[in-house]
Amino acid sequence: MTVVFLDRDGVINENRMDYVKSWHEFHFLPGACEAIALLTSAGHQVVICTNQAGIATGSLTIELVEAIHRRMLCAIVQAGGRVAGVYYCPHSKQAGCTCRKPGPGLLLRASQELQLDLQGAVFVGDGLTDIQAALAAGVTPILVLTGRGKEQLRLAADVITTPFLVVEDLSAAAKIIMQGGICVNC
Ligand SMILES: [Mg+2]
Ligand SMILES: [Zn+2]
Repeated sequence: MTVVFLDRDGVINENRMDYVKSWHEFHFLPGACEAIALLTSAGHQVVICTNQAGIATGSLTIELVEAIHRRMLCAIVQAGGRVAGVYYCPHSKQAGCTCRKPGPGLLLRASQELQLDLQGAVFVGDGLTDIQAALAAGVTPILVLTGRGKEQLRLAADVITTPFLVVEDLSAAAKIIMQGGICVNC
């Protein structure tokens, strides 16, 4: 069993530059629910970790974000998937909190609260801050090319010196995780 951390925007649903502000603006990416169902059926634990600074800036409220997450989880369950927890950072970049990615705070809090064994854990994200958060938490990063992935990959060489896996989308990431034995150094 592997713990699979997932970023939300750009991995599970379409990324929006101005935040997902309603369920109406939440659009699942093709195959995302099915990929989570696949991971669930193989016994992996899925945890979502997302920055939602729109709460700090007033574009979103906590109630709204949590309502969107309830509906997201409902759709995932209907597809046969299960999510052990959804963790979000409500702070602005300037707040200097420890939970906002690239910090590892969300992952570490999840692993403490859910008593996760991070041995072999992975973090699938579309941002370099996801890769950085993964590395800071000691889990294996995987970059997807959905969402901001393609543009972020172009910037990676200047920012991240550790090798990381790059895959097309969450379905491809799930297939690699199912095969086990992710090692970027071999
Ligand atoms: Mg993202
Ligand atoms: Zn935070």
